[in-house]
Amino acid sequence: MNIHEYQGKEVLRQFGVVVPRGKVAYSVEEAVQVAEELGTPITVVKAQIHAGGRGKAGGVKIARSLEDVRVYAQELLGKVLITHQTGPVGKEVKRLLIEEGCDIRKEYYIGLVVDRTTGRVVLMGSEEGGTEIEEVAARTPEKIIKEIIDPALGLQVFQARRLAYAIGIPPELVNKAVRFMTGLYNAFISKDCSIAEINPLVVTGDGEVMALDAKLNFDDNALFRHKDIQLLRDLDEEDEKEIQASKYELSYIALDGNIGCMVNGAGLAMATMDIIHYYGGEPANFLDVGGGATAEKVTEAFKIILSDDQVKGIFVNIFGGIMRCDVIADGIVQAARDVGLDRPLVVRLEGTNVELGKKLLHDSGLPIITADSMADGAQKIVGEVKRAS
Ligand code: ADP
Ligand code: MG
Repeated sequence: MNIHEYQGKEVLRQFGVVVPRGKVAYSVEEAVQVAEELGTPITVVKAQIHAGGRGKAGGVKIARSLEDVRVYAQELLGKVLITHQTGPVGKEVKRLLIEEGCDIRKEYYIGLVVDRTTGRVVLMGSEEGGTEIEEVAARTPEKIIKEIIDPALGLQVFQARRLAYAIGIPPELVNKAVRFMTGLYNAFISKDCSIAEINPLVVTGDGEVMALDAKLNFDDNALFRHKDIQLLRDLDEEDEKEIQASKYELSYIALDGNIGCMVNGAGLAMATMDIIHYYGGEPANFLDVGGGATAEKVTEAFKIILSDDQVKGIFVNIFGGIMRCDVIADGIVQAARDVGLDRPLVVRLEGTNVELGKKLLHDSGLPIITADSMADGAQKIVGEVKRAS
C-alpha cells in the first residue's frame, strides 16, 4: 500500500526523522490558513498524489506570500497532474501539502528497499539527489552507494557513517545524517515497509539534514498489524477494480492490454499472461481467483473484468485441483448469464472432472469457446479479439 507524502512525513517524524513543518489542506482556504500558521517567509505548495515527478510536472510551487499560496492552491486543487509516473491519464489533485520552504544547500538521495537477491534490506544513497534514481543507476551506477543490512543486527552506525561520507555529506553533518538514516531504518522495520525513499534528502543553509520528500510503501501482507497505517489508505488513488477485487480476496492488477484473464493460482496467471503475449495479444489484467475459487468468486471476477471497457475478450484458464472442473464450469455459466456475456469468452479447463465441466459449458447454450490446452486457448482468444477489432 502507498500513502501520500504528507502522511509519510508524519510517520517519519514519529521516528525522529527531521522533516519540514507543514500540514495537509483540502481547500484553498485551508491552504492559506496553514500557511498563515506556519508564518514562514517562503511556503511550498505541493500536490499530493500517489506518484512522483511532481516537481517537473508543475506540482510543486514556491510561494512568497499568502496571496501566492492562494493562487497556487487554486491552480493545483482539481487539476489533473500528468507526471512520468502517473501514465497519460494523470491523477487529479485533491489534497495539498503546505510546508515551510527550505534553504537547500544540496540535495541527496537515500532509500531503503528489500533486495530479493540478498534477501535483505539494502540502504542506498547517492549524491545525485532530486533526479530519478533509475536514471542515475543507468547512467552512472558507481554513484549509487549500497549498504546491505544484517537483519539480526539492524543498520549499524558504521554503515550509516560510511554511506554518509561516500555520498559527500559535509563532515560536520555526518552525525545528523546517521541519526536520519537510523530513524528511517527504524520506521522501515517497525512499519513493515517495502520501500522508503527520500528524494531529496537535503542539507540546509543552517546545517539541518532533512527529508524534503517521502515515499513510503507498505507490505500489504503485514498491514493487519498496523491499524494506524491502514487508516492512511486513500481509495481515491487506487484503481476502482482493484478495490472491488480486494473485497473478494481476488488478486487483481489492471494492465494496458485488451484480453481479460481469469486464472487460478499466481504461477498459472503469470504463465497465461506470457502465452497471450507469445501469440501476439496483450493481457488487460492479472487476475488470480485463488486455489479454492468458488462460484461466487468467479462471478465477481467476471464482473470486474467486464467493467473494464478496454477488455475485448476473456480467457479463463483454470486448473481444477482443489475445486472440481464441473463446479467451476457451473460458476462460469452462472456468471456469464448473470453478467450478460457481450464479448468472446474462451475457456480452458484442466483437472478433476474436466469432461463433465466441458459438457456443462457446451450444454449451457452460451457462445463459450472451449480450448484443449493453454496454447490452444491463447491462440483462440487472440484470434477472436483481433477479428472483433
Ligand atoms: P517530486 O519528487 O514528486 O518531484 P519533491 O517533493 O521531490 O517532488 O519536490 C521536487 C523538488 O521541489 C525538490 O527536489 C526540491 O528541490 C523542491 N522542494 C520540495 N519541497 C521543498 C521545500 N519544502 N522547500 C524547498 N524546496 C522544496
Ligand atoms: Mg521527490
